[in-house]
Amino acid sequence: MTTSLPGRAALLLAFSAFAAACPGPPEGGPADLVVRGGAIHTVDAESPVVEALAVRDGRFVFVGSLRETGRWIGEATEVIELDGRAVIPGLIDGHVHLESGLSLVRGVDLTGIADRDEWTRRIAARAAELGPGAWIVGGRWDHTLSGGEFPSVEELDPVTPDNPVVLSDIDGHTAWANSLALELAGVDAETPDPPGGRILRYASGAPTGILLETAGGLVEEHVPPLSAGEEREIMRQTFQNAAKLGLTGVHTMAGPERIPAYLEFAAGGQLPLRVWYGAFGSADRAEELAAARDDARRDLAAVAAARGPTFEVGYAKLVADGVLSARTAALLAPYADAPDKSGFMVTEFDDLAASVTRFHEVGFPVAVHAIGDLAVRASLDAFEAAAERGPRPELADRIEHIEVLDPEDAPRFRELGVLASFNPHHCITGIDVYNTDRLGEVRAAWSFAWGAARDAGATLVFGSDWATAPLDPLRQLYAATVREKPSGGPPGGWHPQQRVSWREALTAYTLGPAAASGWDDEIGSIQVGKWADFVVLSGAVPDPPDRSILDLRVDSTWLAGAPTHRTASDR
Ligand SMILES: [Zn+2]
Repeated sequence: MTTSLPGRAALLLAFSAFAAACPGPPEGGPADLVVRGGAIHTVDAESPVVEALAVRDGRFVFVGSLRETGRWIGEATEVIELDGRAVIPGLIDGHVHLESGLSLVRGVDLTGIADRDEWTRRIAARAAELGPGAWIVGGRWDHTLSGGEFPSVEELDPVTPDNPVVLSDIDGHTAWANSLALELAGVDAETPDPPGGRILRYASGAPTGILLETAGGLVEEHVPPLSAGEEREIMRQTFQNAAKLGLTGVHTMAGPERIPAYLEFAAGGQLPLRVWYGAFGSADRAEELAAARDDARRDLAAVAAARGPTFEVGYAKLVADGVLSARTAALLAPYADAPDKSGFMVTEFDDLAASVTRFHEVGFPVAVHAIGDLAVRASLDAFEAAAERGPRPELADRIEHIEVLDPEDAPRFRELGVLASFNPHHCITGIDVYNTDRLGEVRAAWSFAWGAARDAGATLVFGSDWATAPLDPLRQLYAATVREKPSGGPPGGWHPQQRVSWREALTAYTLGPAAASGWDDEIGSIQVGKWADFVVLSGAVPDPPDRSILDLRVDSTWLAGAPTHRTASDR
């Protein structure tokens, strides 16, 4: 066998590799930062996984192979060797309520924790940090994750003898208090149940610590309010926690009254997240909201020029129905486990369509909370009606949650240009708890139908819905791709046809939300020219995705080329 041809080819290859590695320093000088030596998941369809990236002046200037990095490294260039760790684009949570999580940051966050000993460990640790006398708030405990029994004062009192405690459950309908909090609030065996609420009691009549619905308020009203300064500090910690989890952006929803606080953070360069703000509120205030949007745009123009989009009053949020757990989500046919109930619309179709039209007139896209298949259909109908009646906003409308979808409506997302915005973790906490009970087998196959929406051509946006689910995007990506319970199972995933691939899930947590805010030319993927928002993980991403996603940690988070969070192992 002759060797001359392969020999020549090898020589040519070696030469071209040499040429590629040494084409001289790049125009504009070396990079500020080079990251190399692991799988870099770009979510760019052209080159989805690369080995190296370089950043200069806050933007990606190079994305490609390891052997091309040499020319980007100058004397002042920082080089991060990945040693096999993965990099992903900065994560953008497409649906979050940062305000409703402030109590978790002030107090204790038990979201998604099944182990009750861990609850008391965290509460005890927080009490030690805050010192005697301080109220411990927050919670978001979920008793359905471990046995389904309510907790009581008996677990709380031994670990919090000197701190009053009142902790909300995951839905915010039930409070869990300790004896000191009950005492300070004057709630005892003699206290009657308030209208619309119930105090759970032992045989003696003494409260167990569980307060249903309005009864929670009997204790909660005694929690001292935060000063404006304390509240800003807790917001700062909330942003920092998000950065620690790999988030570089959020679509957060709250009332318009919260906007000034964000503006202050953004203008001061104190916002480690790019915030796309969805305002709750009546369409009567559409003009006022549009004025706030225009003011913010003007005020933040210099900040945006220096490090990309930072804060924008972006969209309006409406609510069509309730939730599956409480059987208030509006269904086309009755609940499987309550044949006399189909839920109900919180906002009737006519009002929904009129509000959408009103917001469109001032340029806002609209996000509608719609969980049941009837509410999803009504929302699509409302968007269709509004498009016929008036102007369409530049950016796409969206439906939030979509926990059950009628197959006939799946293609309408693409047809109407409506984004499908899902919260993956809500699916997996309902497996074996209530998803199938509420919907029955046939509809359950179309619940949390991420795969079906993708197959029908919908653009997916994923988010956590924190504080009703964990803010941690890796747990959300596990839910989206593995679709097993937080504790694992069923093997292969619950209705596995609705799982999405790692790349699809990651896109729905990066480029999808970036496109929803109109920022996809600037952020959302690792591509030359975009702002360098990215995350270094502690290891490689399992392929195919499996439970070990939950073991990954965030080593560092970068926004416009600067770290917003960094562990020692990343240096
Ligand atoms: Zn929400």
